[in-house]
Amino acid sequence: MREYNIAVLKGDGIGPEIVDEAIRVLDKAGEKFGFHMNYTYALLGGCAIDETGVPLPQETIDACKAADSTLLGAVGGPKWDNVPGDRRPEKGLLGIRGALGLFANLRPAVIFPQLRSASPLRPEIIGEGLDILVVRELTGGIYFGERGRRTVDGAEAAYDTEQYSVPEIERIARVAFEMARKRKSRVCSVDKANVLESSRLWRATVTRIRDEEFPDVELSHMYVDNCAMQLVRNPGQFDVIVTSNIFGDILSDEASMISGSIGMLASASLSGGKSGLYEPIHGSAPDIAGTGKANPLATILSAAMMLRYSLGEAEAADAIEAAVSRALEKGRTADICTEGMKLVSCAEMGALVCESL
Ligand code: NAD
Repeated sequence: MREYNIAVLKGDGIGPEIVDEAIRVLDKAGEKFGFHMNYTYALLGGCAIDETGVPLPQETIDACKAADSTLLGAVGGPKWDNVPGDRRPEKGLLGIRGALGLFANLRPAVIFPQLRSASPLRPEIIGEGLDILVVRELTGGIYFGERGRRTVDGAEAAYDTEQYSVPEIERIARVAFEMARKRKSRVCSVDKANVLESSRLWRATVTRIRDEEFPDVELSHMYVDNCAMQLVRNPGQFDVIVTSNIFGDILSDEASMISGSIGMLASASLSGGKSGLYEPIHGSAPDIAGTGKANPLATILSAAMMLRYSLGEAEAADAIEAAVSRALEKGRTADICTEGMKLVSCAEMGALVCESL
């Protein structure tokens, strides 16, 4: 039997509830597809501050590095809002991403046909549904570039620097092209090459990698302002979007809003190797923690991404995604429940996915 070692960081708020359901589904998928998961639980965020005084203990980094992959719930909450900045739960999140060298962030924006009415876009714009994968560079660009204050013409000024090296662009481009090969084989690279020198290097490098290594994948380029518009005008035109850290930050939020439900959206962050960090895009939802109202599907879909991208269990990943789709016909948590549909709790939603598997 195939065995995988998974580090599990449940985190705070609804984190433990939603992660428990994802584990239930992973175990069920293992029974069906012939693999076994060994879980190592570790602390991150507020719960880690409470137990150890820091949001990211060294043992957590060690556990994640030793594992085949990491599954994360969410961190943070009002209890820790007043701790000093460098000890905030979110610091733990940035810290673990850095420690694992996660340079590629993958965010699918998918609309399940059953939830089409949740989208803020008109049905004729959404058409048959939507399936976009935004690949965002996560460790370079203006968020990490040189910054500072200086005096310009006698007035105080501030500056941040957008900088990308060729190897940084090459590795994120490869991730995007590889992902596209598993989908519809189309990549749209988004930049601002009409204005920015860094974008001109980005565009030339992405084009070269396609020509040299991925000639079978279709590549187009789009300016970021146009892309922001096209996402709400005709989102069906996109398959994989690859872009820089700051553009990806903004466009991935826009793309995920199109799907209408924060409780449904998964994400993956990858390093060069096989292992990655998988988590829902939403936060710890302290307002509903402990009430059983949380929607576990984003975490369950994150676990499916882990099977596909880190563990090579694509068949099980497909089966979980199909099971989520079927479960949506049988019951829904409060955030996505519509009239006439059975209202279920977090645990019942997890059970429905297992049953549908
Ligand atoms: P949030 O995503 O936690 O919640 C926003 C709203 O969406 C809330 O009304 C919440 O109840 C609802 N919601 C979120 N996830 C849901 C789910 N699975 N099912 C049903 N409803 C859901 O964002 P927030 O309120 O801005 O932040 C709360 C805390 O989470 C803060 O401490 C913030 O720093 C933290 N946070 C953590 C992450 C992370 O761990 N990656 C991301 C964002 C925010």
